[in-house]
Amino acid sequence: MTKQEVLKTYFGYDSFRGSQESIIDSIMEGRDVLAIMPTGAGKSLCYQVPALMMPGITIVISPLISLMKDQVRALNDAGIHAAYLNSTLTETQMEKALSNARRGQYKIIYVAPERLETYGFQGFARAVEISMVAVDEAHCISQWGQDFRPSYLNIVKMIESLPKRPIVSAFTATATLEVRDDILCVLKLQDPAVTVTGFDRENLYFEVREQKNRPQAVLRYVREHRGESGIIYCATRKNVEAVYELLEGNGVPVTKYHAGLSNEERKRNQDAFIFDEKPVVVATNAFGMGIDKSNVRYVLHYNMPQSIENYYQEAGRAGRDGERADCVLLYSAQDVMLNQYLIDNKEVRADMTPEENEAVQQRDRKRLQAMARYCTTKDCLRAYVLQYFGERACDCGNCSNCLAEYEEVEVSETCRHILQCVRATRGRFGINVIVGILRGERKNKLLSYGFDKLVCFGAERDCSETYLKQVITEMVAKDALYVTNDKYAVLKLGASAQEMMGQERPIMMRVAAGRQVLSGGGVDSGAERDGVGGNGRSGKRRKSSRISDTLTSRGLELFDRLRETRVVLAHREGMPPYIVGTDKMLMDMCVKLPLSLQEMLQVNGMGEYKVEKYGEDFLETIREFTQGRREILYYQERG
Ligand code: ADP
Ligand code: MG
Repeated sequence: MTKQEVLKTYFGYDSFRGSQESIIDSIMEGRDVLAIMPTGAGKSLCYQVPALMMPGITIVISPLISLMKDQVRALNDAGIHAAYLNSTLTETQMEKALSNARRGQYKIIYVAPERLETYGFQGFARAVEISMVAVDEAHCISQWGQDFRPSYLNIVKMIESLPKRPIVSAFTATATLEVRDDILCVLKLQDPAVTVTGFDRENLYFEVREQKNRPQAVLRYVREHRGESGIIYCATRKNVEAVYELLEGNGVPVTKYHAGLSNEERKRNQDAFIFDEKPVVVATNAFGMGIDKSNVRYVLHYNMPQSIENYYQEAGRAGRDGERADCVLLYSAQDVMLNQYLIDNKEVRADMTPEENEAVQQRDRKRLQAMARYCTTKDCLRAYVLQYFGERACDCGNCSNCLAEYEEVEVSETCRHILQCVRATRGRFGINVIVGILRGERKNKLLSYGFDKLVCFGAERDCSETYLKQVITEMVAKDALYVTNDKYAVLKLGASAQEMMGQERPIMMRVAAGRQVLSGGGVDSGAERDGVGGNGRSGKRRKSSRISDTLTSRGLELFDRLRETRVVLAHREGMPPYIVGTDKMLMDMCVKLPLSLQEMLQVNGMGEYKVEKYGEDFLETIREFTQGRREILYYQERG
């Protein structure tokens, strides 16, 4: 079979995505490869397709047991013989699996890195023909990566102990140069073909919202996205519990996940989410490793994460099926302090020297700053992230900053007033006090310090709180001010304060349109009123489309029926619905309306094996719905 045939027959896809094809070609030419591609780009296929075309067995090293199980399940469901070896198997099961493997029963075997050293595995590996060792999540080999796994260092030993060196391929979504070099060196890749592909995920919409009432914002968002699957990330267990209670109390089908729950409960909740019994989950960042549920339609961050790396990985769990999905971050300046605290109080790692620990802490602080800047930048959010990962990018037109209407306004006066105010109060107060003084608020706290006697008291009385905060944030970004890193978060004059004070050119800043002056009603919380995820404000259109933009209302009805059928099939087979098929696949059925098994083969994601297994069931649903009539259930190109 050619690679195209393998792709169609087993996976049901018509074409390769991005650099999948060139990576597969390199492997088939016998070259080692290192592929760095973002989450959801389709790395698995890059080693699974060649695995099916090469004579021997492919060993896949994967760090996560849940991931392994999922992948093997998906492969078996596509008619590919695969197995996994990890600590969840009993001794007897392990022996059985190994003896099957010796007899060549499996083309692909997933192995946990800890298993490589075991006697049983070594005996097996030397006795059979191994065509390739594929190292998934290869960043685990790097001590500088987020999830270093010492057992990954065993991989090379294992490879070197084999009678014939197999092709070695490595895959990761971590893009930094340090990690890349570590992988190349530690795995001893030979003349590897290195591929780094675009980190952009076009189908994701990015948004940052500064939100005063976060619980309400979350509730509103979830209600507006009823029936969709989503993840809500919180920084702490306490927040998880609170948000969970709120949603649960309001009738949302929701579950929760954090390290404080028992293993069983975590497993149960995770399954409820995966099987779409509870399509919404509130979780700490302990959740998600190894979950590749494809139909997650939104990832909401209740708190700001500690780094862009974390954020992009977590947000990237949305929309893995390539359909439109939202990544919304609810930002509050307090999160910066919270995270600072978490970094400062992180446990010292015993497997690293004090210097290494110190270096890691410094790195973490730097990452946090970059994350905080993401939350306050007025520029394109996607471009910001891509640039962070070393890619060039321009405005995307599909993030809250690109869609918001900003205007360039002159802020020279305001900046000077702010600097004067910070100086007059000797850099001992936080943003709220400074803003209060400038707006001339007659609050007890301000009066008790005698601030009403300051020259700058009320100097910006016509400006809204939001506007002044925006300007201050920009001034922090420009180093004219800085915020102390302690729990007081006091504003002090920064390195370029003097320069700004004396600057003759007008100082210009981008601020959200219509924000600078108090509006008639005296409300300045435009962001609050809109809620999250709203795009009506600017009238500009978002790019990628939702299922509901593609299908007519009747089409959506069929889509729902097909989803029900998928749940029934999932129960029958004892696996998650998204392994039976993605939302995208169901949508394609609604568009193509196959009325025979032959036509079913044309549907995106329906390979031969799947058509055989599920084709009839889906056909029945379609036939019943359409009564065998040809109709058009999608919007044809408009204008
Ligand atoms: P990664 O490991 O890079 O995060 P996966 O290998 O888990 O991504 O793939 C993500 C999703 O993309 C899966 O649902 C997979 O079936 C789908 N996919 C991969 N390659 C293709 C392709 N060529 N056409 C359509 N869908 C694909
Ligand atoms: Mg993967």
